Amino acid sequence: MEVIRIPAGIYAANCYLVYDEDTKEGIVIDPGGDVDDIIAQIDKLDLKIKYIVLTHGHGDHIAGVEGLKSYTKADIAVHKDDEALVKDGSKNLSSMMATGTVEFDPDILLNEGDIIKFGNLEAHVIHTPGHTPGGISLKIENALFTGDTLFAGSIGRTDFEYGSFEDIMNSIKNKLLEFPEETRVYPGHGPATTLKMEKQSNPFIRQ
Ligand SMILES: [Zn+2]
Ligand SMILES: [Zn+2]
Repeated sequence: MEVIRIPAGIYAANCYLVYDEDTKEGIVIDPGGDVDDIIAQIDKLDLKIKYIVLTHGHGDHIAGVEGLKSYTKADIAVHKDDEALVKDGSKNLSSMMATGTVEFDPDILLNEGDIIKFGNLEAHVIHTPGHTPGGISLKIENALFTGDTLFAGSIGRTDFEYGSFEDIMNSIKNKLLEFPEETRVYPGHGPATTLKMEKQSNPFIRQ
């Protein structure tokens, strides 16, 4: 597995290109804007993008979806509980963002336990609600892509409409922290970390 992080869009949400080096098939996680930069990387590496996968439906993670879809023809996948967000600019907050209103129909609605296959890789869908109702994390090999659920040293906000502090803590403690400590974590904002590091130093987890 190869992972390339492209902080994209005016809110610098992490967009990840994840691909299989043998087949050059890959997915794009959370294209939040700067579609030209993302496409330049895809072309440079000669990748075939099979899916655009969204960790959740907020504007800062989805503003580049339509531009990227028209270039790659990849299907857009989002958890079923965030379908309402991507279809509605006020629910996904984009109507209040500098991105302008972003609304689209997803191609694939995801559920807990779904497996997204590309090349010789599998992305396992883990429903991690709390930041949004349909937030997901993706487990690919020994890495977790956690969106705005878990960051290095922090967790996602739960004060937006549809957020739940109880749910996000349940998602982190009972789902994400069940994986081995050496699991690498690629969050929706900021640098990568590991579950071990977060258990030791994240103030929301440590106690
Ligand atoms: Zn968010
Ligand atoms: Zn975000």
